[in-house]
Amino acid sequence: MERTVLHIDCNNFFASVECIYNPKLKNVPMAVAGSTEARHGIILAKNELAKKFSVSTGEAIWEAKRKCPSLITVTPNFARYYKYSRLFKSICFEYSDRLESFGIDECWLDVTFNRKSPIEIAEAIRQRVKSELGLTVSIGISFNKIFAKLASDMKKPDAITVIPKDNFKEKIFPLPISDMIGAGKSTVKKLSDHYILTIGDVATANPEKLKRWLGKSGEYLWLYANGLDKSPVRRYDEISVVKSVSNGVTPYRDLVNDDDVKTLIYSLSEGVAMRLRIKDLICRTVSLHIRTSALEHFSFQCKFSGIVADGGEIAETAFRLYKENCKTDITLRSLSVCAADIVPYSECVQLDFCGAAEKSLRRESINRAVDNVRKKFGYGIVKRGILMQDVQLSDFNPKLTANTLPGSFR
Ligand SMILES: [Mg+2]
Repeated sequence: MERTVLHIDCNNFFASVECIYNPKLKNVPMAVAGSTEARHGIILAKNELAKKFSVSTGEAIWEAKRKCPSLITVTPNFARYYKYSRLFKSICFEYSDRLESFGIDECWLDVTFNRKSPIEIAEAIRQRVKSELGLTVSIGISFNKIFAKLASDMKKPDAITVIPKDNFKEKIFPLPISDMIGAGKSTVKKLSDHYILTIGDVATANPEKLKRWLGKSGEYLWLYANGLDKSPVRRYDEISVVKSVSNGVTPYRDLVNDDDVKTLIYSLSEGVAMRLRIKDLICRTVSLHIRTSALEHFSFQCKFSGIVADGGEIAETAFRLYKENCKTDITLRSLSVCAADIVPYSECVQLDFCGAAEKSLRRESINRAVDNVRKKFGYGIVKRGILMQDVQLSDFNPKLTANTLPGSFR
């Protein structure tokens, strides 16, 4: 039986939620942006009026204000976004329990077994989210997740786009590769070196060659472009089955000092944290697994009272575990960082009285912003300062930065 998958994406989510709380913002060019004082002044989301001035996500506030001097900026209120995320997804959930979140404001919905037609369902969701919540959505309808996502990006805001099985080639083959999920900046660059520029070029390319140039992701890209993505839409509650998220590597050379270990831990932790955030999960335990050059295994772990889905915090903990437990003259063959004791974010936002929750929400919003920028421009576009130091990751393994990519971006 042919599958029917919807991808539903809230338009300008952060900005739209802020406009619900302060309707005056609807009539002026407005953007949600990190605070200037904290030096995280980048644009996280903007409304349609700001878009007209070409204000774009990921740019610095000063750049945006140069294009649009009257731009009003609002600092993010993450608790509000989570509230609306839940409300939005609970409307979608009424049409199928096969609902897979993709970040805070997007989800896939498998409606194959719903009696109503996909267009009817999409239309109902579009109208209900608008009238009940005051948000607009873009919905893509297709026969797999990749094309549904692609379709939802084709027309915005407040629109429904279908990519049907019988003529998907006409619709998507002329589009640039970068439009497809899984094609980051470096992939696009590598392919353009071989004059492969459009999704159609990928689809008709030799899959063996793609694999040689891009590794495993070349294979996937070819399958995706040909409409052969078979990955299921997970049930909404399958998420809690995830017990741990880990990221490890055996580098080309042994890790001989603290700087080596630290660099690697930070790189791996970023990937772990991002994967947690994509699935709206947090962890309460961080563990570090090492193998020495004498091939002995050791594991250390640390439990938190608070909540963690932050690469910096995970890395700090893992590095502390290393410092506390390992002698200085030890050399390591491999290491992995693991986040365990995992729970859905929505279940456990704990507030306290000394500002720690507020601080962590602020960090969360920065992390989400970075995720969004990476989703658009590729994983490598944002790097931690520590990863730009003398110890280069490519010393260990040239593919390392790619290895830390969450699966859905590979
Ligand atoms: Mg969105």
